[in-house]
Amino acid sequence: MSIFSKIAEGEIPSYKCAENDEFYAFLDINPLVKGHTLVIPRREVDYIFDMEDDEIARFQVFAKKVAIAIKKAFPCIKVGQAVLGLEVPHAHIHLVPMQSEKDMIFSNEKLSLPADEMKSIADAIYSEFKKL
Ligand code: AMP
Repeated sequence: MSIFSKIAEGEIPSYKCAENDEFYAFLDINPLVKGHTLVIPRREVDYIFDMEDDEIARFQVFAKKVAIAIKKAFPCIKVGQAVLGLEVPHAHIHLVPMQSEKDMIFSNEKLSLPADEMKSIADAIYSEFKKL
């Protein structure tokens, strides 16, 4: 089982930002900026473009809702979306609240935030998600 499957199952802790039966969103543990969130399918699939058309469409619609929640919780110019998947072999979309293009440079030094701050960021996003 991939580390992200274990996260979606609750076997490994995460800072939950959103969920439904099929998808799960949680804070990136080493965020580029506050509010950097990962969105995953619960189903284990490595490469996002191996997903069936219907599944990837639902995945993107779910990610859109998470992005709306992030923008409400963390006002920003736009929420950027990226797919890398070079580190963890479980499809995931990065959602990053951007104040500038530089916020999307993945080779930037990552933040390491205290647990209580991570929890309050995730709770703020989840609370906005539940209103949608
Ligand atoms: P990539 O596969 O290149 O898209 O990068 C994987 C991303 O997952 C990185 O930004 C990591 O910081 C993040 N990550 C890895 N393990 C965890 C974890 N246990 N909880 C949250 N984020 C993680």
